[in-house]
Amino acid sequence: MSKTIRTVGVVGAGTMGRGIVQVFAQAGHTVYCFDATDGAAPAAIEFVAGMLDRAATKGRMSAADAAAATASCHAAASMDDLSDCDLVIEAIIEDMGIKQKVFSALEAVVSDTAILASNTSSLTVSEIASVCVHPERVAGLHFFNPVPLMKVAEVIAAVKTSAATVEALQAVIADAGHRPVVALDQPGFLVNHAGRGLYTEGLRILEEQVASAQDVDTLMREALGFRMGPFELMDLTGLDVSGKVMESIYEQFHQEPRFRPSTLVPPRIAGGLYGRKTGEGWYAYPDGKKQEAPRAAAPSVPASLQIWIDPAAEQRSGLTELAQAAGAAVTEDAAVADLLLIQPWGSDATSVCVAKGWDASRCVAVDPLPGLDKHRTLMLTAVTTTAARDAAQAVLGADGTPVTVINDSPGFVTQRILATIVNIATNIAQRGIASVDDIEDAVRLGLGYPQGPLSLGDAAGGPRVHQILMTMLEQTGDPRYRPSGWLSRRVALGCSLKTAEAARA
Ligand code: NAD
Repeated sequence: MSKTIRTVGVVGAGTMGRGIVQVFAQAGHTVYCFDATDGAAPAAIEFVAGMLDRAATKGRMSAADAAAATASCHAAASMDDLSDCDLVIEAIIEDMGIKQKVFSALEAVVSDTAILASNTSSLTVSEIASVCVHPERVAGLHFFNPVPLMKVAEVIAAVKTSAATVEALQAVIADAGHRPVVALDQPGFLVNHAGRGLYTEGLRILEEQVASAQDVDTLMREALGFRMGPFELMDLTGLDVSGKVMESIYEQFHQEPRFRPSTLVPPRIAGGLYGRKTGEGWYAYPDGKKQEAPRAAAPSVPASLQIWIDPAAEQRSGLTELAQAAGAAVTEDAAVADLLLIQPWGSDATSVCVAKGWDASRCVAVDPLPGLDKHRTLMLTAVTTTAARDAAQAVLGADGTPVTVINDSPGFVTQRILATIVNIATNIAQRGIASVDDIEDAVRLGLGYPQGPLSLGDAAGGPRVHQILMTMLEQTGDPRYRPSGWLSRRVALGCSLKTAEAARA
């Protein structure tokens, strides 16, 4: 248990408050929980006792530890019962006026050295602290749902929060088995800011009719190794909630184009297509089970098919092997080939054909980013014939590896989303909102990405990510794709995206 923080108060006994009570009780703290609704705090304590009991039954903790943790949780009859707390965490309704009233009331009850923290996910912590006599002991402490399982918490340093307050919160969180990450009091803090790219770029891809929601999700999972794609994630969170976050972060960042929400969302919210909780979202959920369109079987490889592969293609040898294994001939002469295969970075396929003078009607692009092993993306030009499309699908699907066919797009699906995620994360680093290590861990633990975003950028190659963004910027004219200064400088220097600013003598 933390040396300085022994007794913890939790105000608000809802979804988050209950989880916070459990985490601190398990860490050996005495916990008092208060809620304005009659009976809510005792109900929360009972709920936590049930969770601890279940953990003991399942062997995740000893019966003695569960009993000790349960005995350390108390329902507070009034805010006065929190007077001995070294730390009070507020987890009430997301309303600035009500939160400010609670913080004023808490200051009148607790000692001068107690720390006050808010679990707000979207309000400015400095504004909550502005009503306090001692704003230096006020900070954000942002947990994620479900609190016991999501092993990360953001410590938000508001403009007047003291370093000692931040350090004490880091220590108590680490001691409770969560990874504390420190973020500035900026919109979306760290995790919700870093998570924007997956949603906004996924929606942009759907808006542009590049791929279906299901295809985008499938590619993010199977080609890039994400746990979930953007549309599945929106259906899980509920579009009513995630739609509001998208609008709010965009407005709080003064309409920064990188966070521009999609016009596809408001009609769906109005129509109640929230996702799992309303039985229909981007997917339908008859009987609560997600319905997916069946995967189309690969067509058969046409007889005497001749394929030309761009000599500059990243995976030319792999494509050659696949073509030959499928019974096609590989020719060096683009003029006689039935199918032209290319592998652009950041560009749409049509632009490549026009620039190089290749026949766009016989051309299909293969996404080089995920490689050829797991899941292959085939991208058509604006005029690719059905015959060329089917031939590509047949050849690249002949060995049973799943293939997704998409329409033309600057950067396929995976390049666009990955580059956007990396760009936003490097901009978070550039703005000093959080340290590189904290960005990496917060995104892995809070968003469940396979790696931290800067590691994802390094794995793809910083210069590649930069090239994808610059090409997207050029082809779309949309400033959302402008690379961050952090990214551009590290690419120019040839160093890792995780290279922090050098300490100057
Ligand atoms: P909730 O609705 O489940 O619970 C809120 C509780 O606060 C209720 O029990 C309510 O009776 C109580 N309450 C309201 N006003 C009060 C007051 N003046 N004094 C004492 N108690 C009061 O809400 P939640 O989902 O637990 O969210 C709580 C906070 O955590 C919000 O700020 C929210 O933005 C934030 N948050 C929520 C999530 C999430 O996934 N639910 C994740 C991170 C952060």
